[in-house]
Amino acid sequence: MDFKQRIAELRTLLNRYNYEYYALDAPSVSDAEFDVLMNELIALEQAHPELDASDSPSRRVGGGMIDRFRKVTHPAPMLSLSNVYNEAELREFDARVKKEVPDYTYVAELKIDGLSISLLYENGSLVRAATRGDGVVGEDVTENVRTIKSIPLSIPFSGTLEVRGEVFMNDAAFAAVNKEKERLGEEPFKNLRNAAAGSLRQLDPKIVAKRKLDSFIYYMMDRTILSTHFESLAMLKKLGFKTNPETQPCKTIDEVVAYVAKIEQLRRFLPYDTDGVVVKVNEFNLYEKIGYTAKSPKWATAYKYPPEEVVTRLHAITFQIGRTGVVTPVAELTPAMVSGSLVSRATLHNEDFCRNRDIRIGDHVVIRKAGEVIPEVVRALVERRTGAEVPFQMETHCPACNQPLIRNPGEADYFCTNPDCDAQKINGLIHFASRDAYDIEGLGEKVVTDFYNDGFLRSIADVFRLQDRAQELIAKEGFGEKSIFNLIDAIEASKKHNLDRLLFGLGIKLVGQKTAKTIAERYPSMEAIRHASVDDFLKVQDVGEATAVAIVDWFARPENNRLVDELAAFGLTMVFTSNKIGKTTPFTGKTVVVTGTLTGYSRSDAEALIERLGGNVAGSVSRKTDLIVAGTDAGSKLTKGRELGVRIIDEEGFRALLDEVQ
Ligand code: NAD
Repeated sequence: MDFKQRIAELRTLLNRYNYEYYALDAPSVSDAEFDVLMNELIALEQAHPELDASDSPSRRVGGGMIDRFRKVTHPAPMLSLSNVYNEAELREFDARVKKEVPDYTYVAELKIDGLSISLLYENGSLVRAATRGDGVVGEDVTENVRTIKSIPLSIPFSGTLEVRGEVFMNDAAFAAVNKEKERLGEEPFKNLRNAAAGSLRQLDPKIVAKRKLDSFIYYMMDRTILSTHFESLAMLKKLGFKTNPETQPCKTIDEVVAYVAKIEQLRRFLPYDTDGVVVKVNEFNLYEKIGYTAKSPKWATAYKYPPEEVVTRLHAITFQIGRTGVVTPVAELTPAMVSGSLVSRATLHNEDFCRNRDIRIGDHVVIRKAGEVIPEVVRALVERRTGAEVPFQMETHCPACNQPLIRNPGEADYFCTNPDCDAQKINGLIHFASRDAYDIEGLGEKVVTDFYNDGFLRSIADVFRLQDRAQELIAKEGFGEKSIFNLIDAIEASKKHNLDRLLFGLGIKLVGQKTAKTIAERYPSMEAIRHASVDDFLKVQDVGEATAVAIVDWFARPENNRLVDELAAFGLTMVFTSNKIGKTTPFTGKTVVVTGTLTGYSRSDAEALIERLGGNVAGSVSRKTDLIVAGTDAGSKLTKGRELGVRIIDEEGFRALLDEVQ
């Protein structure tokens, strides 16, 4: 493959992983795998600068959002951090700083593994909390953040103040939420970061409150009040924020190196996850001089600790069947503690992975939880072999249905192609009911498997027949009347879900959550999708030939058409309602600030309206503001807008613009 193709391939892949990681909180690869691919892309881009693209994932922060929350534009971009992985790289970072400025000191602090949050206070009240999103535009999670006890709702400060920090979950809260998820038969969170992000981005603040999230605040964005970062942390603490007690000022890079070594020992005993140390230049007046890249400040970097690797014994290899029939070899291990949790199974990816590494049953293997998604086997310890080890043998038949497995030329995976395979069907049903698909609360992995084995659930249509069998279900052991009725209510309520969820839930090969949405936007009814051709699908953004063919093939099968008809008869929503209008309006692409009191709208209604009409709502006025809607009693924002020469309209002007849309 030539480098051009490889760069394109890496960009597509990394964009997908970013989306899964940041938007869906459901990464499908480990951080280590992600970092390897990202470093390969960066190296290729450096070698071929002519192919550099400003929208390459190597230049972007975060990875998109889903339409769950209102979008807000950050007053200043929320950047990521550059990384260093060893002492030499840390010293190179220091040398780069020294080249720009002669006199400086550092502050070294823990890198907390959660998600970053921006908090905006107006005259002492918390008015807005936002996630980082893509760095420029984040998600408004104010109501959820209000439930976090360590974040003050009011602070003794007049004027506008933005602070930033990390929202995270500690070990005890993580164990509790996963226990509860297990009880409900839901998929547990993979790691602490995932749990924090997934919880903060819940729609219901009551659920967020139960999750016991915590925070550490580490940036005060107003850098005019004080002159150093360390002083600003002390001020944040005084204002009532929780700051991390391990933070330490360091006069030289040697002191930072010593701090890194000290934390490497300490971090095992902390009740929350830290994946490294953040080093920041202390003096604010040097920041502009040292500068920024598109993705991160040059006056700070993150030292990342290598993932913990542990040796254990692999006593068996089993095979797991996914909902699309893909068969994955899994290492069954002597349980071992890795990065704070007990691991007894780890993925072996596929046949080539096992053969290339010559993994044998009975081997001592190195395992790790890099990024803590799924534990993985890194390599076998050949020197510890006794001769009794058994070489890896790929299964030739499906362990669930015994049909022969197939590996297509050019593909790494084996597939079970039997449409009646029980394992595939169960996984298909679990997928259908999962949160990102048809989102039926109470119908998690355990319940689906149980109902399947007892014959209550054989196909997606059976989900909607469960209400006719309520009495039989209640008679079953292990389910109370209340939980069955709750489940039936949840199933009934799910019928209102938008078409894209159904399309994703059907489990059509290659149709992920995002593809389902773009298809539904273009063909907003099941009938339109059912009758669309490969060429029609190719007109949809990001849909390639293989996906288009997979959809057309799926609808060509009579049993699938029957299923869709049955679902329509059960009253499931078969049309897509878009919450953004598709035409250009006076607000399209504009950054708008709403301030003061409007008589005809609440502030949040007006903002929601502007967003729906294609505008970006910002919380404060800057040079980037295009328009200010000023109601009565507008104060400092209006004054600032006038100073900057921003276009200002009153409520009447706002109405006039809205009238133009009709
Ligand atoms: P990062 O996690 O490497 O570092 C930047 C973040 O550190 C900041 O945004 C902030 O939230 C946080 N932070 C914690 N403590 C801090 C402190 N004291 N001061 C300042 N900031 C602090 O960068 P990122 O952009 O959030 O994530 C990139 C990483 O995520 C990659 O290295 C990759 O491993 C992982 N990732 C994995 C996947 C996947 O599919 N597995 C996908 C995308 C990204």
